[in-house]
Amino acid sequence: MTSTQARHTRRAVLQSAVDAGSRCATADPDLFFRADDEGLAAWRARRTEAISLCTGCPVRAACEELALRDGDGRPDADEMVRAGLTGRELAAGRAAHAERLAAAVDADRDTEGRQLDTLTTRLHTEAGTNPDSNRNGGVRSMAARTAAQNDRLIALAAQIRQIRTDRRARAGWGVAA
Ligand code: SF4
Repeated sequence: MTSTQARHTRRAVLQSAVDAGSRCATADPDLFFRADDEGLAAWRARRTEAISLCTGCPVRAACEELALRDGDGRPDADEMVRAGLTGRELAAGRAAHAERLAAAVDADRDTEGRQLDTLTTRLHTEAGTNPDSNRNGGVRSMAARTAAQNDRLIALAAQIRQIRTDRRARAGWGVAA
């Protein structure tokens, strides 16, 4: 694999590591985020708990790199914890590594763009294919082929939707946007 290819697949590698090894997989996601009306004392207690959970997490480095690439944290708000860092600490990390992160985020977007192109082409090709084009198996096989094609279409559409949802979430549009 070339260094360019490695850059383009880095995000997926980081995400796989976090998915496989995170200590917070079964934790309440609300632990990591301050509620809109939450007082500082209550948030501080939860923030400490969240940071403790991250301490010793085997994928903390990967989690931090993803958080930086995702643009998590704001310099002017104490509202979250990710990778054992507060939002302000993440914002400071982003500022300190701005040039490297900009290149990494570009590589991530290139990769997603290619994935979207490939998946969209496969979806259109699949949708334009007649599942009944091979009748050798009879009516029952035709039904099975149609069902299998529907499953493939649903899976492709789900992959496309997931990539778009992730991109929107990172852009601050929210998961449901
Ligand atoms: S470092 Fe913290 S937020 Fe990141 S995966 Fe581990 S426990 Fe979860």
